[in-house]
Amino acid sequence: MAEPLRNLYDLTRSDLHALVAAWGFSPVHAARLWSYLYREGAATFDAMTELPARVRARFEGETRIGLLPVAREQRSSDGFTRKYLLGLADEARIETVLMRYSGRVTACVSSQVGCAMGCVFCATGQMGFSRHLTTGEIVAQALHVDRVLRETATEGPALAEADHPSPHHRHERLRNIVLMGMGEPLHNYEAVMRAIDILRDGTGLALGARKISLSTVGVVPGIIRLADEERPMHLAVSLHGATQAERAALVPAARAWPLDALMDACRYYVRKLDRRIFFEWTLIEGKNDGADQAHAVGRLLQGLKAQVNLIPLNPTAGYAGGPSRGEAAKQFQAVLAEYGLPSTVRQRRGIDIAAGCGQLAVGG
Ligand code: SAH
Ligand code: SF4
Repeated sequence: MAEPLRNLYDLTRSDLHALVAAWGFSPVHAARLWSYLYREGAATFDAMTELPARVRARFEGETRIGLLPVAREQRSSDGFTRKYLLGLADEARIETVLMRYSGRVTACVSSQVGCAMGCVFCATGQMGFSRHLTTGEIVAQALHVDRVLRETATEGPALAEADHPSPHHRHERLRNIVLMGMGEPLHNYEAVMRAIDILRDGTGLALGARKISLSTVGVVPGIIRLADEERPMHLAVSLHGATQAERAALVPAARAWPLDALMDACRYYVRKLDRRIFFEWTLIEGKNDGADQAHAVGRLLQGLKAQVNLIPLNPTAGYAGGPSRGEAAKQFQAVLAEYGLPSTVRQRRGIDIAAGCGQLAVGG
């Protein structure tokens, strides 16, 4: 069987330079190719007209531009959210979400096909784990959303100006990504970090480190590694329960990485990087949204540089619980404030197309 062609999106800029050098071409061509891929979002080698024909031919023969075909696009009725079902080379599929929140566009990117962590209220967890995504498959999701934005900017105001009629709010390039789609990013550490390095490269898409957020279920060794490697993006940790028993009932991964060890890792991260951690708390009516729970969170996080993001539960097929009402969320926030903890309630967006937190999944 023929070797599959090498996906250019798997390569960091220095990998690409090394390949071009090994083929005996000038580094100028590597730099130009990189900029075609990430500045211009080139979809074909034919579009790379400034590369000499022999360079193009070699790349065309031995590599591919790993764009992911759109199997389906869904748009939320309010116009703020679009969800893409993207096809991978092995027939697996993933979902990627484009979200608009108050003047900025964010890509919610997946890191795995399914997830091994089994959180009871999460549709991705409910589908089980199929495989890790490659670096190139992660990069391609961001490039897909970037392409949609560029096309939309020339197409007209539909997405770019949905709630801001001012031309200053037009978005022509992707600026923000969250690793909060399908999968547990710290379970696929290497591929995810390489993808982030590629997307941050200053001569490419040049995403700002502070415009990237990664959410983890609480993979303790991964959090320690992020701290040791001084990775500059925002970190969010999914808490959902403030005692080991309550947390483990919702988040089975807590059995592997117990709450005490998780909090130690979080304190280490905050100390080492002198940076705030975000904690996510899914608000499930009557289950973890009471004042006693809020006090327990307050005690657990007191003294830590932290912010709590409350996420009213989104519906999934495999879990019967319901979202807390607005009043419960407000009371929860008031208790957290007593402990000096800032908090936000995440806007519910894209629920009509199952594009909310924890709703991403693909059928078998
Ligand atoms: N695997 C990572 C990131 C993906 S999920 C993680 O678990 O952190 C992003 C956030 O959505 C997590 O905090 C997750 O616990 C939460 N979530 C999962 N299912 C949800 C649901 N049905 N409703 C609301 N939030 C949910
Ligand atoms: Fe996996 Fe995150 Fe869903 Fe848990 S919430 S099953 S870790 S994707």
